[in-house]
Amino acid sequence: MDNKKIAKLLKLAADLMEVKGENGFKISAYQRAARAIETLGTPVEEYVRKGILGEIQGIGGSTKKAVLQILEKETFDDLEIIQSEIPLGVQEMLKMKGIGPKKVQHFWISMGIESLGELYYACIENRLAQEKGFGKKTQDNIQLSIEFLESNKGKIHFAKALPVAEMWEKELQHLIGTENVQITGEIRRQCEIITQVEFLVQNAKQAQVLAFVQQKNIEKETIQDNIFCYKMAEWAISMKLIFVENVATELFHTSTTSEHIAELQTLGEMPAHFSEEKDIYAHYQLPFIVPAMREGRGEVTKAKAGNLPTLIEVADIKGVIHAHSTYSDGANSLKDMALACKKMGYEYLVISDHSKAAFYANGLSEGRIEVQHQEIDKLNAQIADFHIFKSIEADILNDGSLDYEAETLQTFDCIIASVHSNLRMDTEKANIRLIKAIENPFTRILGHPTGRLLLARNGYPIDHEKIIDACAANNVVIELNANPHRLDLDWRWIDYALAKNVMIAIDPDAHSIEGINDIRWGVLAAQKGGLYKEMCLNHKRLGEFKQWLAAK
Ligand SMILES: [Zn+2]
Ligand SMILES: [Zn+2]
Repeated sequence: MDNKKIAKLLKLAADLMEVKGENGFKISAYQRAARAIETLGTPVEEYVRKGILGEIQGIGGSTKKAVLQILEKETFDDLEIIQSEIPLGVQEMLKMKGIGPKKVQHFWISMGIESLGELYYACIENRLAQEKGFGKKTQDNIQLSIEFLESNKGKIHFAKALPVAEMWEKELQHLIGTENVQITGEIRRQCEIITQVEFLVQNAKQAQVLAFVQQKNIEKETIQDNIFCYKMAEWAISMKLIFVENVATELFHTSTTSEHIAELQTLGEMPAHFSEEKDIYAHYQLPFIVPAMREGRGEVTKAKAGNLPTLIEVADIKGVIHAHSTYSDGANSLKDMALACKKMGYEYLVISDHSKAAFYANGLSEGRIEVQHQEIDKLNAQIADFHIFKSIEADILNDGSLDYEAETLQTFDCIIASVHSNLRMDTEKANIRLIKAIENPFTRILGHPTGRLLLARNGYPIDHEKIIDACAANNVVIELNANPHRLDLDWRWIDYALAKNVMIAIDPDAHSIEGINDIRWGVLAAQKGGLYKEMCLNHKRLGEFKQWLAAK
């Protein structure tokens, strides 16, 4: 189990204890342990293997026991006890953004509210606004937050679904042969949010597959004709097995949107019979269009005109842009991050720790920037065939300015400008704030343009066309933040950016060595948007990237 997950469970126990109003010492012990593990560069399991778990600062007697239990059974005694003492609906309230244990305690103990549904009703009745310390604004936010949570039930991130789907596919292929089973649906289309994991399975193998699934002890949900749905314990979503006569012929219809089919039909009637999906495109005299692009967003017209792009691949990424080190809130040292990038075959690292306004993330003061720059110079002299560029993820302040003076900004090779605070803005305010940052002559890349967190936070509303136009006018690259929880810029806007000649940087925003691999999710999302390597900033080789830096 990874450190993040362990820390999350420890933090959950602390939160629930706070909701219940338990002893403060115990709560702070769990909070401390969660923080310690979250920022650890090495997997906790390694400490356990070496018998030095107790040496991690912040891990003591009872929390040490908890960590060991988590590794063994994915939960621990104190957590199980506290979970059994608080209604499930109350526990769910902790999932709301911006609602901490103190507020949840108030809803539960003082107001007698025991579920999200009841809380929503209390908002509608304006009861929350009348409570001391809440007010109309908090009430409105809670109402929105509950609506958001409800609308996202039964959905998970692509990055969470894909590895499990691939594991199932592999096992099933092993069981009944490669040609008799195939992932289809949203996963095959590389959708950023998944509601269902779907497989096409050869009908003749039904009995064999059903027996295999039964062994796995997963709960059957529904059976309709040849479609079997199962509830996956670790997910909020279901797995669908679609038994068909011919896997190859069904592949097209199960991994294509109706909008794409409608686009094809403008070119003439679709053939009723075909043996493989490539035959459909051949019928229309079109090049093959991959499932990721079958969205009905003009891809057929492009294909017809011979303008279908050769999509970017993970191997096209030559440098890592946007990563954090222990200088701010990253888990690994600058040196280790650089060496890891080099080992993975990248030619450069654009290290961009947090800036001073991001105090919660240990953002860098002017003095610490100097220290970091000295270390970068030293490392660049030591590490051959690789380069670390001096960057910073500068906070875009409320008025659109960046949080350093020009004399500091000019010491960097590359400024990434991002919004991290005061996220509640209307479109007009967000546009003004972002455009001012884009017009700052030091800004080279606009970081995660909307601040969204998929399935958790909508992000502030922006007028995408205006923002992209401003980037075009100021020669600023837009980030596609590759963290699977962000994928921001949304791939649906890549087309517009390309039309305006704005380059996209596929940035992992890595907070650890492991996080560098998130580049993959960014690339898969970018493929949906039709991105090709020539318009991806970090496709540039080291020399070309240096030229790009020098060009502004
Ligand atoms: Zn950021
Ligand atoms: Zn970042």
